[in-house]
Amino acid sequence: MVIDENNIQRLIEENKNVKKEEILRIIRKSLEFRPLEIAEAAALLNCEDESLISEIKTAAKIVKEKIYGRRMVLFAPLYLSNYCINNCAYCGFKQSNKDIARKTLSFEEIAEETLKILKSGHKRILLVAGEDLKKCSVDYIVKAIETVYKVDYKGNKIRRVNVNLAPLEHDDLVKIKNAGIGTYQLFHEVFHRETYKKLHPSGPKKDYDKRISIFDKCYQAGIDDVGIGVLYGLYDYKFETLALLTQAKYLDDKYKIGPHTISIPRLEPAAGCDFNQNTGYGVADEDFKKVVAVLRLAVPYTGIILSTREKPALRDELIELGVSQLSAGSKTEPGGYSKPQQATGQFVVSDERSLDEIISALANKGFLPSFCTSCYRSLRTGESFMALSKTGHIHEFCDINGLLTFYEYLIDFASPETKEAGMLLIEKLKPELLSAEQIQKFDAFVKKFKAGDRDLYV
Ligand code: SAM
Ligand code: SF4
Repeated sequence: MVIDENNIQRLIEENKNVKKEEILRIIRKSLEFRPLEIAEAAALLNCEDESLISEIKTAAKIVKEKIYGRRMVLFAPLYLSNYCINNCAYCGFKQSNKDIARKTLSFEEIAEETLKILKSGHKRILLVAGEDLKKCSVDYIVKAIETVYKVDYKGNKIRRVNVNLAPLEHDDLVKIKNAGIGTYQLFHEVFHRETYKKLHPSGPKKDYDKRISIFDKCYQAGIDDVGIGVLYGLYDYKFETLALLTQAKYLDDKYKIGPHTISIPRLEPAAGCDFNQNTGYGVADEDFKKVVAVLRLAVPYTGIILSTREKPALRDELIELGVSQLSAGSKTEPGGYSKPQQATGQFVVSDERSLDEIISALANKGFLPSFCTSCYRSLRTGESFMALSKTGHIHEFCDINGLLTFYEYLIDFASPETKEAGMLLIEKLKPELLSAEQIQKFDAFVKKFKAGDRDLYV
């Protein structure tokens, strides 16, 4: 795929100072859950009128609530290796960082990390690694995925492994697909070609075109669940957001399956990366909120993932505006969960709350923390997932499965305070979200949970 930079720049220029009536028309369109044109997203991103921005945010909250309800999916990253042969100017793992502590986890250590993550209550793991096939080969990654899936803690297992890995070739993509991955995530980092070239001076990642064509290769290899993203803070946020939407539209048009998720990391300080302190393109919190709201309106059926790079108060606001998945209790160094401080982390984590603290905060705000992985395991992925999602039928699965996985979390892992708040929330949400028939099913499953069964879903 090709990003037409002149066209994006033209759309930004042409959609400045758009009349109030036109902004309101775009907002009304988004409230019908119709994806926006790139030009329409440009008009919203350019909007500076406080009262209209507030209308954009209100619309984003409505769309979020209608499509995702109060559910918030949670996951933990597991860093396999911080060896890397690239030199991304912004990343602590870059090869030129000679004095950081490097490590590739052994399979025993991967199992230990998984056990720690399982013991905190997570059911989803995102495997992350630097790019270095000598230290972290595809066969190693396949075995790592198998290792994660095998670990058992009192009947609890990781139910979905997603990956965030450098671009792989067809046969290797097939291998990791067969190992049972959920989503293949890859962030383009910065779509502006000249900036990309400057920030990726050496290593395989310097090949912009190879990186941007990874999802074509994924679909060809049978991976129909992909996650796109951009690293905010490297170039103009309006340009980058429109380029990201162009990538989403390209995939949707060509394969009839848009990306499953969009990730929106914002640049954090990292070891040996003075560049990060002043890139000239830092995104202010208010602009970042607008970006999330516009993404929510532009691609209503695509999940938005926010990581622990952001501080708790801002994360709380962003989940109202459109974020649907959160990482929680994260460590960004290999071995960070079981043997902290043996290796250097990728960047500074800003939300250091434990999973239980995050769950408690979510529950107190009326959000339903969900560990559901049932779509992927019931083969509701790619086109069949989108069909359910776009017709609103996905709620029939998500709400009950979200409640069931939250119940499991509460009985197995929650602190007494979280358990109390969570059980009250479940009782409140049950009649709001479930039909009479579903309530019967939920209550029957709860009886089975009490008898020791686990992992029950519809
Ligand atoms: N090495 C692979 C790659 O670069 O695609 C995959 C893993 S990389 C560790 C995951 C992501 O971390 C990158 O795609 C980048 O967006 C993000 N990242 C790197 N440095 C960062 C920083 N200083 N602050 C925030 N995110 C960062
Ligand atoms: Fe390596 Fe990825 Fe970090 Fe770049 S972002 S240095 S490729 S780990």
